[in-house]
Amino acid sequence: MNVTSQLQQLFASGKPSHAYVIECQKSVAKSLLLDCAKVAMCQNYGCNNCVTCKKISQGNHADCISLPTDTQKNKLTVADVQLLVEESIKRPVDSGNVRVFTIDATDSVTGVGSAIWQNKLLKTLEEPLPNVYIFVAVQNAHSLFNTVLSRCQVLTEGRTSPKEVCNQLVAEGFLPQYAQVAAALATDVAHAKKLVADNSYFDAFNLAMDMLRGMTSTKTALPYVSAICQNAGVQDKILGMLSVILHQSVTYRLQPDLCLLVDYEQQLLDVCANYSIQAALVIVEKLNQTNKRLQNGGNFTVEIDKLAIEMSEVKYRCRI
Ligand SMILES: [Zn+2]
Repeated sequence: MNVTSQLQQLFASGKPSHAYVIECQKSVAKSLLLDCAKVAMCQNYGCNNCVTCKKISQGNHADCISLPTDTQKNKLTVADVQLLVEESIKRPVDSGNVRVFTIDATDSVTGVGSAIWQNKLLKTLEEPLPNVYIFVAVQNAHSLFNTVLSRCQVLTEGRTSPKEVCNQLVAEGFLPQYAQVAAALATDVAHAKKLVADNSYFDAFNLAMDMLRGMTSTKTALPYVSAICQNAGVQDKILGMLSVILHQSVTYRLQPDLCLLVDYEQQLLDVCANYSIQAALVIVEKLNQTNKRLQNGGNFTVEIDKLAIEMSEVKYRCRI
């Protein structure tokens, strides 16, 4: 079912959430967000014919505020989120009795700025206001901080959810442990099937898991770092795997139902014991930065050494 139909059901049931993460392709984000606003604001949940719907389509409904304000760069700024914070506490001024904020975050989930706007938005999400609805469009819900994600309902446009991807692989006879790892990494079923047939992903998964469980300080880093450096086949996958496992460890703590790695619970508990939620999220950002430096020609061994030190520092700094 597409996002608009799901939303219509939720709003018609009278129990909509105050915030939604809309997972969709970047190319459809803007129009889909306007459709979401129509469902929230129109008396008929998005008829496309009434004054409210027409104003939203034309982008001139005073109670439907679309961010980022700079549509050319399409990058969210702190000023954008500040505008949301200020506008969300004002009364509706146009036709209708709700205010809607649509956020196209498809270009704003990476980089330093991403942490700043997400942390600022988090405050608003933590204290929802009556008659205010927030829709955040991203290509992948897990590119958002789990702290943000856990306060929103996720709706996916035209894509099978990771749980469904996992179930489908298991139904086709793949081992659950493999299906879970593939589903955690994949964007859809076809992608997951490619991953599940490639052993190097599981080598990378095992090395990443070992490192997250066993590396308690820089003193114990060496065996993990050398195992990764000696296995050329996993080097382009290890950072992604570390990130997936850390994300899953956060999901396990905040939204256990959504955690995919159900057959790895013991291992995840070790990871949780090593890294607080805050530490896991900071390290994911460090992994993104390491990845960027590698893409710009950084030396793999040097970067992994540096990463191991950073991970130990963050683990200590953000201990529970
Ligand atoms: Zn309408």
